[in-house]
Amino acid sequence: MRIILFSSRQYDNDTFTEANTAHGYELHFQESNLDSETAILAHGYEVVCPFVNDQVDAATLERLHAGGTRMIALRSAGFNHVDLAAAERLGMLVARVPAYSPYAVAEHAVGLILALNRRLPRAVARTREGDFSLHGLLGFDLHGKTVGVIGTGIIGRVFARIMAGFGMHILAYDPGTPSDELLALGTRYVPLDTLLAEADVVSLHCPLLPDTYHLIDGAALAKMKRGAMLINTGRGGLVEANALIGALKDGQLGHLGLDVYEEEGGIFFEDHSNLPLQDDVLARLLMFPNVIVTAHQAFFTREAMTEIAQTTLANVAAWQAGTPRNVVHAVG
Ligand code: NAD
Repeated sequence: MRIILFSSRQYDNDTFTEANTAHGYELHFQESNLDSETAILAHGYEVVCPFVNDQVDAATLERLHAGGTRMIALRSAGFNHVDLAAAERLGMLVARVPAYSPYAVAEHAVGLILALNRRLPRAVARTREGDFSLHGLLGFDLHGKTVGVIGTGIIGRVFARIMAGFGMHILAYDPGTPSDELLALGTRYVPLDTLLAEADVVSLHCPLLPDTYHLIDGAALAKMKRGAMLINTGRGGLVEANALIGALKDGQLGHLGLDVYEEEGGIFFEDHSNLPLQDDVLARLLMFPNVIVTAHQAFFTREAMTEIAQTTLANVAAWQAGTPRNVVHAVG
């Protein structure tokens, strides 16, 4: 069985090679992103393994199918970058890694909150320069404040548990069934508008779907508590990036932590440090002292990478054995 991994880096090579000792597949690590142009590189590979910013749209899938690909083995939990209806029409199976160390993402969200609140990047830059003053570094106690968790799936629940450990009150919004575990922690499930109005920190942990696209737009930002903090480790498209700039400039949004950005494709996961940044919205966001952007690294822990590689290859093995698992189906 031949498998090609698009958008792969050395760390993918390391973890997949290690996980593959249990399978012995022929792995090909391809640095290029996958799109309808590069799909030709997968010619002759039965299994294609894309990453989060690859464009697995209908045109790409048709070319992959013509080249003999029959399975898309996603090495991510999110699947918003795949045209599932087109895959189904072509008879291609799509599987994902539904759960891998939710702690990795939840803990990164907490890291962003602490770094923003206590202005750690600024403090570190200052002490390195021999400036040991404290002006401009004033934070607030998380204890006793309210955090709003949007999406209480696997990651949202871990995140809420950690924040409860800080002594924060937990509000949650999720159209699905409320989590008994979170209810036992004293979490109040409330409508989205109530969460936005009452939370000091809002953290996004829902998938990017047609009905969650720009869930946080200008109107939602205006409903937030003045000066509140917004954290997005979900998907970039959950937040209307343009609307953030005005909200930050007038102080409506007090702090912003982004691990994902709606136009991150072609920017994140690559070194652009020698080039002028072409994305004006991202460039503006990076200029605010109360904004931290990380480049989609929330998943990036040793434990998560190992689980991702093992589950992805186990998904391939299950499909090969005629008992597919972790299959993603088109809705409707
Ligand atoms: P999950 O499927 O376990 O949970 C998602 C939850 O969101 C579910 O409870 C669902 O009911 C809820 N939801 C659906 N629509 C909603 C809406 N309109 N409003 C609020 N909640 C809604 O998924 P998970 O494993 O917890 O992951 C959540 C998301 O985190 C993924 O979809 C992925 O996009 C993102 N993620 C990001 C990274 C990263 O590195 N930054 C890594 C992994 C996952």
